[in-house]
Amino acid sequence: MRGGFGRGFGQGPMVAGGRRGTGAPLPPAVRQAMEGAHALLKAGDAAGAADRFAELASRAEERGRPGIAAFAALLGAQARATAGDANRAVDEALAASVAGHGSHRPKVARRYAAVSAALRAGGHAEAADRLDGEVRSRFGITPAVAAPVAVNRSQRRHLPKSCSACSGPVTDAVVFDDDGSADCTWCGTNLL
Ligand SMILES: [Zn+2]
Repeated sequence: MRGGFGRGFGQGPMVAGGRRGTGAPLPPAVRQAMEGAHALLKAGDAAGAADRFAELASRAEERGRPGIAAFAALLGAQARATAGDANRAVDEALAASVAGHGSHRPKVARRYAAVSAALRAGGHAEAADRLDGEVRSRFGITPAVAAPVAVNRSQRRHLPKSCSACSGPVTDAVVFDDDGSADCTWCGTNLL
């Protein structure tokens, strides 16, 4: 199992000292699908990006990387919400395989909160409320944006330049959790 199967929300196996290791590199086809999805998002094609993220999620699932699959599915739902397709965004968000991510609830909660925020920004408050309610009742998770965690310079210095799993760039947008971990903004894999 070591390194082969993403457990939790894209994190690698536990390593000495209780920290998680970084993710094993994704197969080229999955990396390419991820690059394509993020490129479309950057280009402002939210609907196209949503389709690519959905495709990426199923590829990651097939390759035994459920953490990355769930992360991609939720990025896709967020893009779908940005594209204005509210009902489909809710359906796709709820279909993300987040089961088994109990130890990563803050990350899952944050991703669901991002989908809700995109729905609200597009004037779909009812859909956002429905999503929040379903996430609470089905998964016992309250979508929430985590309070910012103070990060010291040495923590930032230890971040790699790019993600070991997807090769995505590591930028200042990286969010640290209160356990000192930080995840790739592209694929959700633990970076430290
Ligand atoms: Zn990554």
